[in-house]
Amino acid sequence: MRQKTCVVTGSSKGIGRGIAERFGADGCNVVVNYRSSKSEAEAVVERIEAAGGSAIAVQADVTDQDAVDAMRDRTRETFGPIDVLVNNAGINQDVLFDEMSHEEWDVVLDVHLDGAFHCTQTFYDDLADAESGRLINISSIVGQGGNLGQANYATAKAGIFGFTRTLALELAREGSTSNCVAPGFIATDMVESLPDSIKGKIRDDTPLGRLGTVEEIAEIVAFLASDHSSFITGEVIDANGGKDL
Ligand code: NAP
Repeated sequence: MRQKTCVVTGSSKGIGRGIAERFGADGCNVVVNYRSSKSEAEAVVERIEAAGGSAIAVQADVTDQDAVDAMRDRTRETFGPIDVLVNNAGINQDVLFDEMSHEEWDVVLDVHLDGAFHCTQTFYDDLADAESGRLINISSIVGQGGNLGQANYATAKAGIFGFTRTLALELAREGSTSNCVAPGFIATDMVESLPDSIKGKIRDDTPLGRLGTVEEIAEIVAFLASDHSSFITGEVIDANGGKDL
C-alpha cells in the first residue's frame, strides 16, 4: 500500500477516521475529507503525519458536485491521481415512515447515493487508470435487513449494493475492483447517540454481545484496498458480530 493515494469521504470521525488512520499507518497518501468537522479532520491528519504518513484535510460536501471537483483538483495538486476511493460519508435522520417528510427522505439519499455518484464519477478515470484501482463502498446491515425508523437509510444502503456490483462489472474492464463492506452496529457517534436501552438491545441481539469497533472495519477496508484482494470484486463483506439480517 506504500505511496498509494486514497480518498476517504467522511473521515473526520468514526469509521472513516479509522480507515484514514489505517491507510496512513500503511504508508499511503490520505485525503481526509469532511463536511463540517474541520478540527477533527486536522487532528486525523496530524495523527497520520505523526505515524510517518502523508495526509491532507479537504472540506467538501459530497452532495455538491462543484465541491467534489475542487477536492479532486486539490488531491491531484498534492498527490496526483488516486488509487483508492472509499465512499464512507454518511448520515441518518431516523423517523418512522408514516411521519417521514420528503426532506428527511431526500437528505439521507442525497448524502449516501448522490455522494457516491459524485465521488465515484469524479475519480472514475483515476480508478480505471490505476494499476490496481480500488472502489470500496460502506453500506450497512440495515440495507440488508431494514430497521425501524430507517426507511430512508435502509433504502440508501441497499442501493449501494447494486451500485457496488455494477461498478465491479464496469471497472473490471480496466482491471480495477469494486467491493462493499456492510458493518453491523459500530461504536461511533452515529450509534453512541442512541438511547442506552436501544444500545443494550443491539448488544443482546448480536451473538458476539458487543458493538464493533472502527478498527475492525478499517482492517477489512485495508484488505480490500490491498493487492491481497486482487481477485475479489462485486462482493459485500459482512462485519456484524453474527447479527441476524
Ligand atoms: P459518523 O461518526 O457520524 O461520521 C460521519 C462522517 O461522515 C463524518 O466524518 C462526517 O463529516 C461525514 N459526512 C457526513 N455528511 C457528509 C457530507 N455531506 N459530505 C462529506 N462528509 C460528510 O458516522 P459513522 O458511524 O462513522 O458512519 C460512517 C459510514 O458507515 C456511514 O456511511 C454509515 O452509514 C456507515 N455505517 C455506520 C454504522 C455504525 O454502526 N456506526 C454501521 C453501518 C454502516 P462532518 O462531521 O464533517 O460532517
